[in-house]
Order: sequence, then structure tokens, then C-alpha cells
Amino acid sequence: MFLAYCGECGDRFLLPANHVIGVHNLDIGVIAVELTCYEGHHILLISGNDIDIPGPATV
Ligand SMILES: [Zn+2]
Repeated sequence: MFLAYCGECGDRFLLPANHVIGVHNLDIGVIAVELTCYEGHHILLISGNDIDIPGPATV
């Protein structure tokens, strides 16, 4: 499960793994996970040890 914020829905969701449409290694220890919310909106979740943002980030 991924906790992700959808800017279009204006809400946070716990999304199951079948909402993941892609995973990208951006840098060492930095991973971008592409998800869709329950409405089908595209969410990009950045996670990794070197990210200063508390919690998931969306684009
Ligand atoms: Zn949405």
C-alpha cells in the first residue's frame, strides 16, 4: 500500500500495489513511483533517504 496525495481530488489515499503504473530510480536512494488514484488521476510519489520533504510529494 502507498500513501499518496492526489492534487486533483484534493485528498490522500492508501493505494494498493495494483495502482502502481511505474517505478523509476531517479538517483541513488531516490525512487519515483507512478500511481493512479481511484479516479484515475496520475500521481508521482517521490521517496528516498535523501528527500527532505516530510511525507510523500506529488507533481
Ligand atoms: Zn485523483
